[in-house]
Amino acid sequence: MLAMNYRGPQRVRMDRDKPMPEILHPQDAIVRVTRSCICGSDLHLYNGLVPDTRVGSTFGHEFIGVVEEVGSDVHKLKVGDNVMVPFNISCGECSFCKQELYGNCHEANPGATAAGGIFGYSHTTGGYDGGQAEYVRVPYANVGPTVIPEGMDPDDAVLLTDVVPTGYQAAEMGGIQKGDTVVVFGAGPVGIMAAKCAWLFGAGRVIVFDKEEYRLEFVRNYANCEAYNFESTGDPVLFVKKETDWIGADVCIDAVGAEAAGNALQTITGRKLMLQAGSATAVHWAVNAVKKGGTVSIVGVYGPTDNLVPIGNVVNKGITIRANQASVKRLLPRLIEHVQNGVLDPKGLITHRIPMEETADAYHIFSEKLDNCIKPVLIP
Ligand code: NAD
Ligand code: ZN
Repeated sequence: MLAMNYRGPQRVRMDRDKPMPEILHPQDAIVRVTRSCICGSDLHLYNGLVPDTRVGSTFGHEFIGVVEEVGSDVHKLKVGDNVMVPFNISCGECSFCKQELYGNCHEANPGATAAGGIFGYSHTTGGYDGGQAEYVRVPYANVGPTVIPEGMDPDDAVLLTDVVPTGYQAAEMGGIQKGDTVVVFGAGPVGIMAAKCAWLFGAGRVIVFDKEEYRLEFVRNYANCEAYNFESTGDPVLFVKKETDWIGADVCIDAVGAEAAGNALQTITGRKLMLQAGSATAVHWAVNAVKKGGTVSIVGVYGPTDNLVPIGNVVNKGITIRANQASVKRLLPRLIEHVQNGVLDPKGLITHRIPMEETADAYHIFSEKLDNCIKPVLIP
């Protein structure tokens, strides 16, 4: 079958002859992929920022498809079902799943210290092959896969597997109160969705920072918010302080993740910002721009041992930090409703529909922010 093959940092190729996945456990299903996205999370793998990302692995954790085969213990799905598959792999039975922490399942990634299981996301999350391929093995098929409601656009469905729940959970974890000022770092698909969802929780003002003008323009229109280029505002922390009577934002959201440190360093050398090298990650900005007693919500993904939180400021300001992989299954029922009622328009994020054969080009376009790319979808 056709499948993406990781060859090392910034090297992706497509194989035509990857062996078909097989049922390895009675609760497995095999899904024929009909849409698969590239996520900002994949860029961390692509850029070599996640340890134990093995050459030969297939990425892809945002996909929908048709059930081709089910194991003998699968009773919630049948062959031919059209399903969206949450990016989290979860057993549904462990103490974490029982608390609806589906991103932190204890069984899907045994032996790891913290993370749960994720499709196509290195051996730090279980070493599962992902959905940037024609077929994918879906473990615990009674738990995650959800039949796509009649009439739902597949482009909406594929974004419900990650981007929508992640953006929503970013806002939710912020504990936004009516009238709050919410600052979102990152205007990628996740930050854009977080900005959009912040209003659903009652935000009074939403401010987004990025450095890509086309993304700032996009988020202003899509999420009806303010958006600023941190390469021209100067220190975004100072900017937020000035905008809030020197109090700080009520809630800051990090929707950037692992690349931020590198990007920020370029910013420093390029624009001579008065920031210490290495201290300008989105996490630092979020902690420093939030008010005393405020909340920082982190959905940006980092390598397991990245160590970027300015802990002294967290303590002295009494900040609450909330962070997690999104718990897709927990959020799906309400988010499906929001899509069906027109409250959220996920497919509006998709700028590129690219044949799966051209996945390597798609990585290049998305990674380099070419052609005003917001969200690319691969079509087998
Ligand atoms: P993306 O790469 O498309 O977007 C990131 C954006 O951040 C880019 O537009 C970039 O220009 C901008 N940026 C870089 N440095 C910045 C800085 N210092 N301040 C502000 N903006 C900065 O990625 P995405 O798909 O939107 O994903 C965003 C993050 O969310 C990634 O880290 C991804 O791994 C993570 N993510 C988390 C979950 C979860 O469940 N927690 C799920 C999906 C994605
Ligand atoms: Zn993703």
